[in-house]
Amino acid sequence: MPLKPSMLTTHPRKPQPREVRSLSCPNCGAPIQVSRRAMSYRCGKCSMPMKLEDVTVDQLNNTRTLNTMGHIHLTAHSKVDGELRCGELTVSGSYHGNAHVHGKVHMQSHSHCSGEINARSLTIDDGASFEGQLRIGPKARIEAPQLEPPEFHDPMIDPAA
Ligand SMILES: [Zn+2]
Repeated sequence: MPLKPSMLTTHPRKPQPREVRSLSCPNCGAPIQVSRRAMSYRCGKCSMPMKLEDVTVDQLNNTRTLNTMGHIHLTAHSKVDGELRCGELTVSGSYHGNAHVHGKVHMQSHSHCSGEINARSLTIDDGASFEGQLRIGPKARIEAPQLEPPEFHDPMIDPAA
């Protein structure tokens, strides 16, 4: 089929639709492309199920540990000290700690990060600051989030039974 001129039109100024999350499986490392609207996903390679719950932190002086395969957003008013293990991370506020991100990290303008960031990819905007250690890329070792185990009740091993 010949190419029509309409197929060759490019729109360089049009923002990229961010419809897809690019992650890696926390269990087997396989690359995952999943719709931003999906709430859960099962790895096509190792079948590990994962929830994609998004978390927004907009408070001051939070000390916390967060685990999710979804996206964590630390808003401009947030000041978080803790360990984050997640699918994607956007920092607009202040973060100190150890982050393990199975997809993209975005440090926005005026954000402050320190500590250790392990991620598949990283964007640092003009005006953002970072002090610490970075391990970025497809081979970076990224710890899996500690997610709730699936419901499982076996009276033989359940100490409550
Ligand atoms: Zn997997």
